[in-house]
Amino acid sequence: MYLFQTPAPTRFDLRFSIAGIPVRVHPLFWLIALLFGSGSNSLFGILSWVVAIFVSILIHELGHALAFRRYGQDSHIVLHFAGGLTVPETVSWGAGVARVGLTHNQQIVVSLAGPFAGFLLAALVLAVSLALGGTILFNTILGFIPFPLVFLPVGGTLLNSFFLSLLWVNIFWGLVNLMPVYPLDGGHVARYVLLQRDPWGGLRTSLWVSVIAGGALAVAGLVFLQSIYMALIFGMLAFQSFQTLQLR
Ligand SMILES: [Zn+2]
Repeated sequence: MYLFQTPAPTRFDLRFSIAGIPVRVHPLFWLIALLFGSGSNSLFGILSWVVAIFVSILIHELGHALAFRRYGQDSHIVLHFAGGLTVPETVSWGAGVARVGLTHNQQIVVSLAGPFAGFLLAALVLAVSLALGGTILFNTILGFIPFPLVFLPVGGTLLNSFFLSLLWVNIFWGLVNLMPVYPLDGGHVARYVLLQRDPWGGLRTSLWVSVIAGGALAVAGLVFLQSIYMALIFGMLAFQSFQTLQLR
């Protein structure tokens, strides 16, 4: 996801690297993850949510970063108060800076790599659940989207809730992230698909798609999911795309 500008480094940032990709975690990331987990009724429940969100967003961003690397572009990952960000590195080039120029198809692969890394993680969770003797049941969201739930044998309550959190975050957020709304990954996919069809007007069309899809999702979130949060987020994103259109 690319929700906001990267926040400035602080001395409370957690820094490490995975597979040579630098990762920085801003302190506010933990606060937001805690807020998401605060619906749990136990300390372990809250912690399992925080770990699930941390692992899931990290895997999502690693998907983007590894796809960038495949095309020769270095990047680093920032986890912050609105999720995560994979930032391509720039190199000095003459008086300015440059990045590896990716083709539209490569940009589409990089954008899809985040949500699909999450779907792979969800598949892994299901495989491990089966290996542990668990049962998989399918529920539906909105009455038509099948959604897996796992039930581990008795004794694994905490692990079970951790697995359920991982499934929820990776599948539900992964699908939301694929919606063609800026600045979600689906918005970037829509941009490059439309630019391939129409190099001159594609960008403008993708902004209109973002306005309409964002508005529709805000209404759907409110009506079908009774989620004021989803209505506010998508309403705000639709409005941002509309404002960008006015500047062009
Ligand atoms: Zn993403």
